[in-house]
Amino acid sequence: SQMKVEVLAKCMAKVYSLCESEVTSYGHILEMESSDEGIMLLMDRDKITQVLINLIRNAFQAMEQAGHIQFILSREGEMAVIQVRDNGKGIPQSEINKIFDPFYTTKEEGTGLGLSLCSKIIEDHDGFISVESEVGSGTVFTVKLPMYPANN
Ligand code: ADP
Ligand code: MG
Repeated sequence: SQMKVEVLAKCMAKVYSLCESEVTSYGHILEMESSDEGIMLLMDRDKITQVLINLIRNAFQAMEQAGHIQFILSREGEMAVIQVRDNGKGIPQSEINKIFDPFYTTKEEGTGLGLSLCSKIIEDHDGFISVESEVGSGTVFTVKLPMYPANN
């Protein structure tokens, strides 16, 4: 793998520009917010990019009407915190612990591999991924990754 020290906000800006036209072409809004442009991580940039694109595409695919996706960077102690928040259809509580399983999908043409790959990549970076959701109001995915250096 290609572990390098990277500025996380730069990686997120790249993800934003890759996703923006697809999201906006369907009438949805993608909004990026960063409260800390200086956060650095030791990371495989291509893999983290893949995780974030997966989360934004899932958010986009969960929209039933014109929707709003927020892509937010903040920090919590020594962890960088990335959130992808959507106001899409949400995930029933009875399904929520299956979504990270390989091949679990509710989409006609889904593979169900996106989130299982995301969780593998985040674990490989000593991070955490979690989800909160409410049917009819939306979903929040939270990714926490250790900052570099550990105590900056
Ligand atoms: P796929 O996108 O191929 O279905 P994923 O592993 O990316 O596979 O996601 C698994 C399932 O989790 C999706 O089919 C969907 O039911 C649910 N899911 C993931 N993200 C969201 C979201 N933001 N809103 C609602 N459901 C979601
Ligand atoms: Mg997916």
